[in-house]
Amino acid sequence: MTLSPKKHPLSQLNPGNAAPMRMPSELVIEVTGQCNMACTYCTNAAARAPHMTFEAVKNILDQASQCHVPSIRFTGGEPLLVDDLPRMLTYAKQQKFYTLLNTNATLLTPKSLNMLIQNVDNVLISLQGFNNISTQEMTRTPASFEEKIRNIFLLKTFITVVRLGTVITPNLINHFSKYAALVEKIKPHTWELFRPMKGPIPSMAEDGTRYISLCRSLLKSREYGIHGIIGNAIPLCILPNPELAAMVMAGARADDGHTRLVWDARGFFKPSYFITENLGIDLNAAWNHPFLRKMKNLAYLPSACRACKALPQCLGGSRTLAKQMSGSYFMPDPLFKEPSKAFIKKPASFQEQP
Ligand code: SF4
Repeated sequence: MTLSPKKHPLSQLNPGNAAPMRMPSELVIEVTGQCNMACTYCTNAAARAPHMTFEAVKNILDQASQCHVPSIRFTGGEPLLVDDLPRMLTYAKQQKFYTLLNTNATLLTPKSLNMLIQNVDNVLISLQGFNNISTQEMTRTPASFEEKIRNIFLLKTFITVVRLGTVITPNLINHFSKYAALVEKIKPHTWELFRPMKGPIPSMAEDGTRYISLCRSLLKSREYGIHGIIGNAIPLCILPNPELAAMVMAGARADDGHTRLVWDARGFFKPSYFITENLGIDLNAAWNHPFLRKMKNLAYLPSACRACKALPQCLGGSRTLAKQMSGSYFMPDPLFKEPSKAFIKKPASFQEQP
């Protein structure tokens, strides 16, 4: 069950192998619905859910252990609000899980830092703004940007993998270079940009040309040592060739129940943060739930997707946005368009022999 702490979860994904997995590679637990911030783009469906108890989390960790799930991610809301988080993380580490934590890094104390150093392999920190004003605008709280940045550097000093995550908002698009300058100073393991999944932002951002220029900016920023990617589901065919696309877009492998399962803070398993179909409370049954099986089966995708070289990584884009824009999870991603010839697999008879 143990993973090398040096391995980043995205490195666990094997783009060449889209075969269904016997068990999720990661279980995400929303240990609370509550947060000390109120980000403009937040889509937390369980925002009113109370903190989970240690016993409830232990029950889920025991199920994950029995099912040989290798990684556990603690998220929220803001997990550092939860008094029992140290016990939860300590127990997860005792069970030899690879442990990940999503946090806004504003509630760090010397005591909690020490606890995280002992028990967390990988931290994903939300980076909402590039300075004090933009951070307060995005989080709608009087949070101290300087303190947050100090905390990020502290975590970076002691924790093996520290990543930054930023939702793609008008603020990011309009001030990309300012964000990039900050990220260049912090030097995280990766900077993951997330396509917004709900609310008024998608209609603004669901403009393929914006994403194409964002991909170009991300590729350009590699020259400055920034490893930036679009970290969630998006059709790779918005770019002209699959190799370039695979460098800068993670695709949907970590989304939509393909490799991960999420425990909703309201008390049930669901396919992803955003797809809140109730899959029940038994891990094995949830992973084999007919709804999830249909989603992972991909038979509903357009024929161009099923003949596409990028399918194992792209998986046809986002099911969440398909539902939001077209009313069904099983419709094409709203950014889907017929891909360029570079994406189409050669017929088997023409494939090069090894
Ligand atoms: S054709 Fe389909 S599978 Fe291929 S990149 Fe586009 S959306 Fe993804």
